[in-house]
Amino acid sequence: MQDWSKKLREFLTVPNFEECKTVLCVQPHPDDADISMGATVAKLSEVGVKVYYLTVTDGGAGSTDEKTIGKSLRAIRQKEQQDAAHILGVHELIWLDFEDLGDYTAQEVRARVAEHIRKIMPDIVFTVDPFLPYEVHPDHIKTGMGAAQATSLYRLPKIYPGTTDHTVKAIGFFNTAFPNTFYEIEQRHLEKKLMALSQHKSQFDENSLKMLSFYLTERSKQYAKESGKLVETFKVLPPTMLHVFPEALTY
Ligand SMILES: [Zn+2]
Repeated sequence: MQDWSKKLREFLTVPNFEECKTVLCVQPHPDDADISMGATVAKLSEVGVKVYYLTVTDGGAGSTDEKTIGKSLRAIRQKEQQDAAHILGVHELIWLDFEDLGDYTAQEVRARVAEHIRKIMPDIVFTVDPFLPYEVHPDHIKTGMGAAQATSLYRLPKIYPGTTDHTVKAIGFFNTAFPNTFYEIEQRHLEKKLMALSQHKSQFDENSLKMLSFYLTERSKQYAKESGKLVETFKVLPPTMLHVFPEALTY
């Protein structure tokens, strides 16, 4: 299986992240991309890659306080995401504004992501891994599946009216249990990410931010192949492997 997988890689190639002109990060809530790939975003922005964030939901359900949820939380979280994105060097923020924990469908997400893939013309689409075992959050499942389907089918008028000549070269799943890419980042990128996370005050109090920072820093060290290095992890696939390709699991 190992050799077969190696051979597949010779003709099913994916670009290095830094070789990209534009990447699109599709996230369920304002904070998901910062948590899982914030240091990568900081590094790519630093070398001139245009990083777009497309946030699927309005984030309005992210509190246990009934007085806060809904519109006022949506405004708070948009501002928090703007501040975090500014630290990481994100080029542009786009909001789809589906209701957080609402009844929208993955098919609706798919159409809107396809629309934006055609406009933004990214080399790579990043999104949460909908195949993460034990993931139960409906926004994460619908966003990951909708974005992955869009990355496979974005040219088809049935998915969204019109078509495009643009080619997406890869999909990069973050928050994945099946990483095949251990992307090296520097300490300064990790620091920017932790600074960005501290902007999401509605989501993390001092204590939970400390725990999260510890977990993410340790994770960056643990997954690095050499000691002293830091990485963020992804499952990167050529979009063609998103359909009838059992080898995608071990690719
Ligand atoms: Zn989320």
